[in-house]
Amino acid sequence: MSATTPRLRLILGDQLQHDSPQLAQLDPARDRVLMIEAPGEATHVWSHPARIALFLSAMRHYAAVLRARGIALDYVTLDDPEYAAAPALVDRLRQRLDACGAEMSAVELVIVEPGEWRLAQSIEQLAVARRIALTVLPDTHFLCSRSAFAGWARGKRELRMEYFYRWQRRQQRVLLDGADEPEGGQWNFDADNRSGFPRGGPGDIPPPAAFAPDAITREVIDLVRRRFADHPGSLDDFGWPVTRDEALHALRVFIDTRLPSFGTYQDAMWTGTPFGWHALLSTSLNLKLLDPREVIGAAEAAWRAGRVPLASAEGFIRQILGWREFIRGVYWTFMPQLAQANHYGHARALPRWYWTGNTQMACMRECVGQTLAHGYAHHIQRLMVTGQFALLAQIEPRQVADWYLAVYVDAVEWVELPNVAGMALHADGGRFTSKPYVASGQYIKRMSNYCDGCRYRPAQRSGERACPITVLYWNFLDTHEKTLAANPRTVLMARNIARLTEEERGAIRASSQALLENLDAL
Ligand code: FAD
Ligand code: SF4
Repeated sequence: MSATTPRLRLILGDQLQHDSPQLAQLDPARDRVLMIEAPGEATHVWSHPARIALFLSAMRHYAAVLRARGIALDYVTLDDPEYAAAPALVDRLRQRLDACGAEMSAVELVIVEPGEWRLAQSIEQLAVARRIALTVLPDTHFLCSRSAFAGWARGKRELRMEYFYRWQRRQQRVLLDGADEPEGGQWNFDADNRSGFPRGGPGDIPPPAAFAPDAITREVIDLVRRRFADHPGSLDDFGWPVTRDEALHALRVFIDTRLPSFGTYQDAMWTGTPFGWHALLSTSLNLKLLDPREVIGAAEAAWRAGRVPLASAEGFIRQILGWREFIRGVYWTFMPQLAQANHYGHARALPRWYWTGNTQMACMRECVGQTLAHGYAHHIQRLMVTGQFALLAQIEPRQVADWYLAVYVDAVEWVELPNVAGMALHADGGRFTSKPYVASGQYIKRMSNYCDGCRYRPAQRSGERACPITVLYWNFLDTHEKTLAANPRTVLMARNIARLTEEERGAIRASSQALLENLDAL
């Protein structure tokens, strides 16, 4: 390639960085920026309309900023008639490259590392097939590059987030005292961060920032309503940040009003309280409207200024510097096998009510219901309600992963898949977790008020009112007793099931079988 070869710089829908490496290196004499809306991205899983609208609106706002900066931009819209026969992103890219005609082999395609394995593969294959020079720039959004993570993981028998997080705290110099030790004398304040809401309920929680749709977003919402009318979920309350300015405002509101109690009530759940004290910043982070450094920096600064307790600041920072970066590293370490992982060989179909919320189980009704209304549920709802039910009910991991990718506004595969296959389903056999996350209905009772409005009883594991989660939890212990006994983190569970008589165990097996054969009726 010569120094004058035309370059096409593809910016993907989740790469909306204000300081994108694509823009930093832009040469107006050679470069055109390309952005592509692709209906295939909304239909390869049955996407929530709010997820589709969020991506399209954020892309269109970003394109408007580029145009205002005088950057030469090719923008392919969702319903561009020229591209109607090519719904998939990579097919639209191929068509755009074909339009370069005879000059195509003299075009250089420049991308930033895609977040998704499937897309990265298909763009590379396209470049090879079309004999185009492809340059892949490192993704500077993340604090830990893929190669740095691979270096950290090399030679380790087990990958554990806690050790990765401590390493990152030192690497990035976050929440350290003068002697390079953790502020407050400990790395992790998790033990302080597990309260349920008080008996009387969560009280007044300051609302998260919400943004009235502007003209661009309204147009997108109309488009999504028209094109994807049969998709599950509502657009009525769409208020997600779609620009960097809005994302920065959402960050400020969170730090000032919600971070102080974030830690304490991180795991708490309550009927009619979809957002709790959570940040609602995952969409802005995943679209890259926000830089994780500025989010972490804002939380640390608020603690240093005495405005939030250390347990809250540390608990929040751990989610981003620890979990988010770790999960990305794990994704690239274990793909593509992770997408097929099925350690327990589970093969049941996802119950239909995952798409409607129409179930008698109050916890599932509430978590699925708010997911369909807002495209949002917080971590414990995703892990310990919808996620653990799918594990206990022996649902095929692929179907569960597709559901999570479809229904959450923040869903992108690099973060969704390890959380589903690894954290919620243990489908990878525990490559980066120390145990399966399972608990009986009693845990949900402790962390929420869901059981108060339920026809089932969390303490009961037999009879007509037996809580399905409790029954299936005991069935899980019964089935996996040996492996649970061999793991120090689950040995207590194994002891609990071992205490039951053979008759009690037989009753659990019979009840579970009846439930498993009728999951749609629960
Ligand atoms: P907060 O609870 O306020 O946390 C702050 C930030 O920390 C989040 O915005 C997020 O960026 C980060 N974070 C927290 N937990 C995790 C985690 N486990 N992995 C990675 N980052 C984390 N997150 C997504 O962004 N996209 C997904 O598709 C997704 N799917 C999930 C599926 C399952 C089964 C589970 C258990 C978790 C999933 N998560 C996912 C992680 C987490 O639930 C969401 O990031 C969080 O609920 C987003 O809401 P929030 O911004 O209010 O987060
Ligand atoms: Fe969920 Fe069981 Fe409680 Fe009902 S009783 S809300 S099913 S945990």
